[in-house]
Amino acid sequence: MTRTALITGITGQDGAYLAQFLLSKGYSVHGLARRSSTAEVNTTRLKWLGIESDVRIVDGDLTDLSGLARTMRDVRPDEVYNLAAQSFVRSSWQQPILTGNVTGIGVTNVLEALRLEIPAARFYQASSSEMYGLIQEPVQSETTPFHPRSPYAVAKVYGHWITVNYRESFGLHASSGILFNHESPLRGIEFVTRKVADTVARIKNGLARELRLGNIDAKRDWGHSRDYVRAMWLMLQQDQPDDYVVATGRTTTVRDMCRIAFEHVGLKMDDHLVIDPDLFRPAEVEVLRGNPAKAKAKLGWEATISLEEMIREMVDADLARHSAARR
Ligand code: NDP
Ligand code: GDP
Repeated sequence: MTRTALITGITGQDGAYLAQFLLSKGYSVHGLARRSSTAEVNTTRLKWLGIESDVRIVDGDLTDLSGLARTMRDVRPDEVYNLAAQSFVRSSWQQPILTGNVTGIGVTNVLEALRLEIPAARFYQASSSEMYGLIQEPVQSETTPFHPRSPYAVAKVYGHWITVNYRESFGLHASSGILFNHESPLRGIEFVTRKVADTVARIKNGLARELRLGNIDAKRDWGHSRDYVRAMWLMLQQDQPDDYVVATGRTTTVRDMCRIAFEHVGLKMDDHLVIDPDLFRPAEVEVLRGNPAKAKAKLGWEATISLEEMIREMVDADLARHSAARR
């Protein structure tokens, strides 16, 4: 029997890679996407992976419960992956209420639609290492207390706990993946790894001279989206729903990540890097480092792509994009 999956946020980075992964497993893949007046904006990432005609897009928004319920009734998915969110930390200070409505309450909307229409379906919530914020332990695991540092992270803590609560209250097969930062050539341009990859490619092509960054002493545990979507799927294949940290266990400064990108194209970082005080945040998450031991023991999951490999792949993809644009 073909299994059916519904992905909210299918037009985003993880949505695209997860759709590709599920298609490779033989799933019928449906994706919720917001209507846009410019249709091709929505499908850029799916096109990049060559799968846009293999998935079915359903109009919808996380803030619209009746539409979500209708979608659950029509699609009747076996598995629901809730990846949609206002996902950029910096924007969450500019749009705190929207972020709360989408990234927080939106999770309850999806859970309610699922509970009312298809309670036997399995549910995945995209929780985030940003929930640890002002870290309470040097290496963060499933038992580390949260201390969120942005409206985004506060909304994610709500989304995380409402998932746990629906599991405990209604017996739903609802799991939450606490994923540490993960990137790829499909990462949004506003996030630091992609901004670095894109700007380094521009500098190499003579299209830019400097790279402006904020806090380069911040440390992150960076993995690859392609690896991390596999962990999402593994969580929903378990008999029991649960929460899992998904991370590499290694932490690196923004500065050192940046150096990898410059060195890859034979340029010196110090010739181009400019620190811009406007890019510092009202409250910073200084360091994150995850402990993926539970995911390894219970899911058999491990990261396979190193930071160096990933940054090189991202820079190469942006070099190719800029060369194609110039032809
Ligand atoms: P993206 O920002 O690339 O994708 C977010 C998706 O959510 C897009 O498809 C976007 O649609 C959609 N979306 C936004 N608002 C709404 C709305 N109101 N209704 C319906 N859809 C909406 O994020 P990622 O793919 O990187 O991340 C996936 C999930 O994982 C997110 O929830 C994110 O917060 C979380 N996460 C990500 C981490 C990472 O490092 N990447 C780490 C931990 C958690 P559109 O294309 O129209 O904007
Ligand atoms: P986040 O961990 O979800 O906030 O992912 P980001 O990629 O947006 O940011 C990672 C870290 O890089 C944060 O500590 C930022 O403060 C830091 N950083 C430094 N300069 C920049 C910049 O120019 N853009 C972004 N997005 N982050 C930056």
